[in-house]
Amino acid sequence: MRSFFILAATLLCGFVIEAKQIAVVENGIAKSAILIPAQPHPDEQLAARELVDHIEKMSGCRIEIVQEVPGKGWEIAQDRKKITSIYIGTSGITQEMEKAIRSQGDDPASFMIKAHTSSSGNYIRISGLSPEGTLFGVYELLEQMGVRWYMPGDIGTVIPEKKTITIDEQNTVQIPSFAARHLQMAVDRTWYRRMRLGGPVFPSCHGIDIGKADIEKEPELFALVDGKRQKSQLCVSNPEVLARAIIQAKNYFRKNPSAPWIGMGPNDGAGFCECPNCRALDAGDFDIFEHRISMTDRYIWFFNKVLEGISDEFPDKKIGFYCYSCYMKPPVKVKPDPRIVPAFAPISLCRIHGMSNPVCPERSYYRKIMEAWGKLLPEIYERGYLLSLLTLASHSVRFTP
Ligand SMILES: [Zn+2]
Ligand SMILES: [Zn+2]
Repeated sequence: MRSFFILAATLLCGFVIEAKQIAVVENGIAKSAILIPAQPHPDEQLAARELVDHIEKMSGCRIEIVQEVPGKGWEIAQDRKKITSIYIGTSGITQEMEKAIRSQGDDPASFMIKAHTSSSGNYIRISGLSPEGTLFGVYELLEQMGVRWYMPGDIGTVIPEKKTITIDEQNTVQIPSFAARHLQMAVDRTWYRRMRLGGPVFPSCHGIDIGKADIEKEPELFALVDGKRQKSQLCVSNPEVLARAIIQAKNYFRKNPSAPWIGMGPNDGAGFCECPNCRALDAGDFDIFEHRISMTDRYIWFFNKVLEGISDEFPDKKIGFYCYSCYMKPPVKVKPDPRIVPAFAPISLCRIHGMSNPVCPERSYYRKIMEAWGKLLPEIYERGYLLSLLTLASHSVRFTP
């Protein structure tokens, strides 16, 4: 019995196996060199520079960057066995590393850090599925050394002072949790990349391009509001609006063949068409946060038709739209084409609490909306709001009796 308890206690405490340490700098003296490809990508050059600069700020020691010489490899002055080789480069990715990364995901910003002691010389290999992934691997390594960039500029940068820098022996694979990672106000590109932000940029989705249209000459293309045609929105049930939107979408993709999507949606603001044909597209689903009928069904119907119309030439292109205002609730009667990509913009909902906060009904509601869309479509984005004056404005408007 006693031995059982000893065993249990041992298991609970756990054996802390210290990872072997790999020297980068020792007492202010370089114990490593950075090896980069013969023709490094600008992101790989940046990665090497960032590593050297930060290590120098930490330890006062500037480690050497050695460029590969085609056919000869890296010519290092010191005995290779005594120093750690830090390989930085996507081209240096081994099959084993690539397999390890791809077993978790294919995002080009993914990377692996392989760091090991070896009798033929210690090495740290940092390779991404793209040069950007490699750069992010170097930022991970710097964070392991204690570096932090809490906000842009020197005031937000923490670089610990240490004469000896080591890292743990490791096989680290990281893939981004989100394909698109962007902050609207973050203009400092250096900091942006250190935060590993990037990925696809969601298109702007206010408005539907139908080319030139004059409300005086062709009023029926525009929304009927209170008995009068207005430019606030388009009359999406009008077949001419659809035909012109298809022409414009095709033109857009001919001009932008690499664009995965085109942005499309109502104009920002209200003034939706009240004609009988447009109204017939709605499902009558009331949006309690917007105090009006949800417009989602009529626009999803329209996007489906546009995608159908461009399919002969662009079968794989997608439509991005803002899941926003009174078109945030999922459609009720129309099944969306899987090529529709919504980006949530929950302007009317609480932005103080977390998604799983049990005391926030709005966030719980938002979560349900997101989950419902997630069941309908393979790809969804969030274009969230930070705290701002708009928060106070939108909330005070809604809560005014
Ligand atoms: Zn209409
Ligand atoms: Zn809340």
